[in-house]
Amino acid sequence: MSAKIINGTEIAAQIREELKKEVSQMKEKHGVVPGLVTILVGKNPASVSYVTGKQKTAKELGFYSIQDDQPEDISEGELLSIVEKYNKDPKIHGILVQLPLPKHISEKKVIMAINPDKDVDCFHPINVGRLMIGGEEAVFLPCTPAGIQELIVRSGFETSGAEVVVVGRSNIVGKPIANMLLQKGRGANATVTVCHTGTKDIAFHCKRADILIVAAGVPGLVKPEWIKPGSCVIDVGVNRVGEKLSEKTGKMVPILKGDVDFDAAKEIAGAITPVPGGVGPMTITMLMKNTVKAARLSIS
Ligand code: NAP
Repeated sequence: MSAKIINGTEIAAQIREELKKEVSQMKEKHGVVPGLVTILVGKNPASVSYVTGKQKTAKELGFYSIQDDQPEDISEGELLSIVEKYNKDPKIHGILVQLPLPKHISEKKVIMAINPDKDVDCFHPINVGRLMIGGEEAVFLPCTPAGIQELIVRSGFETSGAEVVVVGRSNIVGKPIANMLLQKGRGANATVTVCHTGTKDIAFHCKRADILIVAAGVPGLVKPEWIKPGSCVIDVGVNRVGEKLSEKTGKMVPILKGDVDFDAAKEIAGAITPVPGGVGPMTITMLMKNTVKAARLSIS
């Protein structure tokens, strides 16, 4: 039987509707409008496209939003003072500095300069620490892992007691999602195994997974025979494997593939995310959720 396809675009739209309501209630009751600034240094095309998407969504949700474009040759000191200006701005609840930054600027210094209560990307070590402690301490959840958790929960998969296998241990996906799912609480409480390039037999671990999360950046890494029948497969990988002509725009567009052999895997898994249209659309939505939370916390 073919797996249920977990539609990230639909689930993200559902969450955005919930957020829209929260934003208008917040405005009505407290006169507060969530404020998000996205700071872009230079004109890297991928970064331009990411911040454009973030700004568009922020506007759709009724946020106060600022796109702050800075030249490629801005000094580290100047960028730090811009961050400081937004740290002090009461209308701004979320600050996002689009990464990567040019080589002459320390990303670490810039991340450390963001007020942790406005760090809606959840990259500041204070927020990473809060996430590790879990529960009420975890003010923000990092966006892609938060999106993954929502996809699992909203597709009706029980995480409590489940065997979860995460392939990949990056700071932005693998480590935080593994940490979030092992916490005691709703949408978590799982037994988590993390695989990486040092793992001796990845297939052995994947085959035991009730929930398999793959974030390796290797197209087709996970073979269909590694998948436990009926399991939930979340494919985070986004790999450009070529180009094709778009019928819609007449322009060349990238062909994207995940880390899982989707066509074969969907005949074995119980549910699976497609690439594109799975985890991708959730990431921006979870950034908006963090900004709404930051605004709510500023009221109290
Ligand atoms: P990353 O920083 O490159 O980390 C990849 C991880 O996968 C590393 O821990 C690496 O192990 C592990 N790995 C790589 N090849 C492996 C192999 N053959 N066997 C076992 N483990 C292997 O990547 P990332 O930033 O986490 O991103 C992973 C993928 O997710 C990429 O395709 C990226 O584009 C995508 N992504 C998507 C979104 C989204 O919103 N949809 C967001 C973030 C990332 P070692 O630690 O041992 O090197």
